[in-house]
Amino acid sequence: MNKLEIRDLEVCHGLLKAVRGINLNVQAGEVLAIVGANGAGKSTLMRAIAGSHRASQGSITFMGQTLGDLPAHKRVGLGLCLVPEGRRLFPKLTVQENLTVGAQIGRIGYWTVEKIFEVFDNLVKRRHANADTLSGGEQQATAIGRALVANPELVLLDEVSLGLSPAIVDRVYSILPQLRETETTVVLVEQDLGRVMKVSDRIICMLEGRIVLEGATKDLTRDQIIEAYFGLKPNAVEGAET
Ligand code: ATP
Repeated sequence: MNKLEIRDLEVCHGLLKAVRGINLNVQAGEVLAIVGANGAGKSTLMRAIAGSHRASQGSITFMGQTLGDLPAHKRVGLGLCLVPEGRRLFPKLTVQENLTVGAQIGRIGYWTVEKIFEVFDNLVKRRHANADTLSGGEQQATAIGRALVANPELVLLDEVSLGLSPAIVDRVYSILPQLRETETTVVLVEQDLGRVMKVSDRIICMLEGRIVLEGATKDLTRDQIIEAYFGLKPNAVEGAET
């Protein structure tokens, strides 16, 4: 079953078309990775799915419901949560308060505020600290926790490893098996191709707002992804020489 269906999606920043005619299905329980160079449109696509940025054309259907202009907080209520690039925590609320806010607008289920403190035990001693005093890793754990306590059906993780040490990134990604267990669908944007190939079931590569490569991770090679990433077309180059 498709949890998410995107048809002919176009998303603009003013006159700039950042997402151009994207068609995409995401199945229940799948981990889909989106890769692509800076400016390829990955974050814009994630924000449009989450309802933080309005699409100018096309449709997004989540669990059979066409979302249209449904605002982001109502999408959270349906089980669609974004962990945005840059985390965007409430800076003057404590870790616990940030998590409680997430729990309030979401759904009841496996993930609770206490479960988050169990999984991200680095947050326990920071429970009552304001978000703006946290380290990068603590902020990221809180941002992910805030999305998970809403018990999403689908969680969008936008560059959650940005600026974190490899050990902290390992900790962040250590939640993926639990997400699989709870049949939570994951769409993630990640720059580290090695990690993408390790954790994802399927990969799409974006270039200039379009999907230029899509396939099951097991069927794709690193070279294929890198070629798509940089828009290299070896055949076209050969053709130009003849
Ligand atoms: P990155 O990895 O750098 O975040 P990305 O693939 O996520 O890149 P987007 O951030 O979605 O790409 O950007 C897609 C295009 O939209 C780029 O040309 C970018 O300059 C432009 N863009 C993004 N955000 C805005 C904005 N708030 N206002 C104007 N243009 C924007």
